[in-house]
Amino acid sequence: MQSIHTFLGENTAAMLAHIETLVRLESPSRDAAAINKVQDAIQDLLEPMGTVERHHHELGDVLHVQINGTSSERVVLLAHADTVYPHGTWQNNWRVEGDRVYAPGAYDMKAGIVQAIWAIRAIFETGRDPRCTIDFLITPDEEIASHAGRPFIEELAKGAKAVLVLEPPHLNGDLKVARKGVGGYRVTIRGRAAHQGTEPENGRNAIVSTAHFIQEVVKLQDLSKGTTLGPNVIKGGSAMNVVADEVYLEVDIRVWTSEEAERIDAAIKKIVPLEGTTYEILDGLNRPAMEPSDGTFALLEKAQKIANALGFNPGAARVGGGSDGNFTAKLAPTIDGFGAFGANAHQKEFEYIDIPSLAPRSALIAGMLLEI
Ligand SMILES: [Zn+2]
Repeated sequence: MQSIHTFLGENTAAMLAHIETLVRLESPSRDAAAINKVQDAIQDLLEPMGTVERHHHELGDVLHVQINGTSSERVVLLAHADTVYPHGTWQNNWRVEGDRVYAPGAYDMKAGIVQAIWAIRAIFETGRDPRCTIDFLITPDEEIASHAGRPFIEELAKGAKAVLVLEPPHLNGDLKVARKGVGGYRVTIRGRAAHQGTEPENGRNAIVSTAHFIQEVVKLQDLSKGTTLGPNVIKGGSAMNVVADEVYLEVDIRVWTSEEAERIDAAIKKIVPLEGTTYEILDGLNRPAMEPSDGTFALLEKAQKIANALGFNPGAARVGGGSDGNFTAKLAPTIDGFGAFGANAHQKEFEYIDIPSLAPRSALIAGMLLEI
């Protein structure tokens, strides 16, 4: 029986061609028509191997392909079809240099999708069968908070044996076992306008009250626990001679644990506004922290064993940025970073993938699908 790694090595050029196809079909978040074209192309590749479901959404379709395994247990492969790049980006930035393909949207994460498609293909074409039934889910809106994808992600993760997220690995190739919970508060601070010259005593200054709010917020940070709060957007006031009556503020929040998220959420809502002003606080954590469980580490051990046999040695990374894996970690053992090796996500001129690693990293996915 031909080895999966050999099969994938021989098909690296074909994998690359599929990556190019998906990258050229540019798919900025919110452009449903463009995203659906990517979903069509992915569907064409997966349809011969499984059963397709398309769920319509105004942000773009959610694509779910189920591929039968030899057992009734399920494993979820998780990916997204949208990118952060506007149309026209690939034209100026697609280039092959040595072992690298510079391709906006390939590293994050169209190459990961192609690697997984080829992993499944390699399993069948070398005469094998995946062990678990595979639920391959490609969502349209990961880059903009996953409102469309989240219900499907959570539904499929429930009762799954494992979730493998096809986002890029850590920079050194490590798999990701933990991600911070991520979100943001949108706060409107209201006071009362008055003429700054004739009746300042009748005004209630929303900017002064915002300054108070920000100082209290920053006090809630706990860097020793990795909890950060960033008041990073602020707009307010109307004219220099008018007591400011309204301010809009956004505060980024990142936490390693749900405990910390709860602590911050309770505390932020208890901040007392300065007299005569109000705080309207909306949103909060959008993605819960991806906290590793015993199941995560068992899964990691399996992945490391398979990778070692393929000639590489991924460690376990904990990172500050969120992904759709944040939604699944509580529901099923989740490891992220099964995508392509490369660097510079979200940097249109510099985002690249590493060609020689396509076959071994795809073989790692195949190994997982055979053994989980
Ligand atoms: Zn991504």
